[in-house]
Amino acid sequence: MFLTLGTGIGGAVYLNGKMVLPKMEIGHMTININGEKCTCGRNGCFETLASMRKLKNDIKEKLKLDSEITGKEIREVLEDENTYNKVESVLDTYVRNLSEGLKNIINIFHPEIISIGGSFVHYKDILLDKLIEEINSEDSSFIKQNIPNITVATLKNEAGIIGATI
Ligand SMILES: [Zn+2]
Repeated sequence: MFLTLGTGIGGAVYLNGKMVLPKMEIGHMTININGEKCTCGRNGCFETLASMRKLKNDIKEKLKLDSEITGKEIREVLEDENTYNKVESVLDTYVRNLSEGLKNIINIFHPEIISIGGSFVHYKDILLDKLIEEINSEDSSFIKQNIPNITVATLKNEAGIIGATI
């Protein structure tokens, strides 16, 4: 399973080296029926809660950063320990929402690997371990039996353009 986390969320499933379900709208599965309205018309879609756009907007709001700041610049701002501590609850909420979507994906597809690309890769060092920990702490026996290897795309943010991942 390849997921692109950027302004939205895209996904593709690879089976025996071939892409299947190329048109799946994985970003528009509801993970919170009380969540905010998505551009697609549903509420609480995976991408309204777990896209990198959502994370960046929440960090900008929390730290009162300039609205024009880039994702790369935000990442640099978080190098400062005090600043990082201020947004840790934002990161935890983001990871919890992201893990909800991934758990649904795990239950449906039982993937061997979930590879994540998009601008998420730039935040790997502060998000990936939290994400893996959150999924491993799940109580559902179905999830526990099928926890995949969760990794970031080795072609980094270019994976979606190149059309390949790991
Ligand atoms: Zn939607």
